[in-house]
Formats: sequence, structure tokens, C-alpha cells
Amino acid sequence: MLVVLKKWFTDTCPVCQERLQAESDFACTTKSCPQGHYREEAYCTLGVRVTYKALK
Ligand SMILES: [Zn+2]
Repeated sequence: MLVVLKKWFTDTCPVCQERLQAESDFACTTKSCPQGHYREEAYCTLGVRVTYKALK
């Protein structure tokens, strides 16, 4: 269980394990891999979370 929780909250790329770069403003928080493998956008005001994963 602890492993699962830790995995959910880890801010690293699932592909290359690089630490994700986070940016945020009043409406949106974006986390992305510096290598472009993975990208996550969370829109707090809309309650929407969008995840992009590597296509290859
Ligand atoms: Zn990556």
C-alpha cells in the first residue's frame, strides 16, 4: 500500500526517471519530463487532470 501511494505522488518521469519540471499558475499546474516523455496538466478550477504519455 505504501509503495502504491509513493508511486502516485512521485514526481518523476515513468520512462527515464528524470524529475518532472513543475509550473503552475492560478488555474493550472503542469508537470513535464525535461526529455518530453511525459506531461501532466491539472486544472484546479475545472477539476480536470490531463496526462500525456510517451508514444514510443
Ligand atoms: Zn522522461
